[in-house]
Amino acid sequence: MRVAIVTVGDELLSGDIENTNATWLCARLSDRGVDVARVTTISDDVATIARVVNEYRAEYDAVIVTGGLGPTHDDVTMEAVAAAFGRSLAQDPEAVEWLESEGGYSAADLTDGTADLPSGARMIPNEEGVAPGAALESVYVLPGVPDEMKAMFERIESAFDGTPKYTTTVEADEPESALVDRLIELRDRFGVTVGSYPGGTVRVKITADSPSVAEEAAAWLADRVTHPESAGE
Ligand code: ATP
Ligand code: MG
Repeated sequence: MRVAIVTVGDELLSGDIENTNATWLCARLSDRGVDVARVTTISDDVATIARVVNEYRAEYDAVIVTGGLGPTHDDVTMEAVAAAFGRSLAQDPEAVEWLESEGGYSAADLTDGTADLPSGARMIPNEEGVAPGAALESVYVLPGVPDEMKAMFERIESAFDGTPKYTTTVEADEPESALVDRLIELRDRFGVTVGSYPGGTVRVKITADSPSVAEEAAAWLADRVTHPESAGE
């Protein structure tokens, strides 16, 4: 399964807020064996959000959008997702009912727009906040507030399945450039994905579809690199 993540917010683009939602979602999806094909950050702009959502839902198996929910003037994500699907935005009775029964709000006290969803969307309750999320075909719209986003993702994560992957790591005390030929051979010989992360020593991350292949590939490489002297040995 290939997924795109779209994080929405001017504050992300200005560097005021670190995009921890993207990193957290990438890690959780990767753990499930889902390929995150793309992460895109865009501003709180209806036309931009609608265009990107439409492009990505055509290209990927699912799209996760975070940020810009809620009724304030700069929160336009629901409006944009509705536009992407050519739907109207309307108060969702299920969302109002959930906010009254579980959230402790009375419908009359809710700020206008709080429970508005694209028509035909399935409401995703917000256990940590107010504004509900939405699922519409392959598009999932989650809040920007990290705790709200995480709690909501737990409710939908079963929709994201992939082939579980197995990883091993080998540390090499050699310049990364010197390792290139061995890393290519490692990849071709075992059919694994190889990542190398320099920084003092080089950490080589091997990803395979089975634990035995991951182990065999790591053993092969470990026999062919210079190992850092580990402390205490
Ligand atoms: P609310 O309904 O509370 O307004 P929201 O879904 O509209 O929530 P935003 O207005 O986009 O969310 O962002 C609320 C806060 O969440 C931001 O001030 C920021 O602190 C945090 N936030 C938003 N997006 C991200 C992100 N990608 N990574 C980390 N934090 C984020
Ligand atoms: Mg907001």
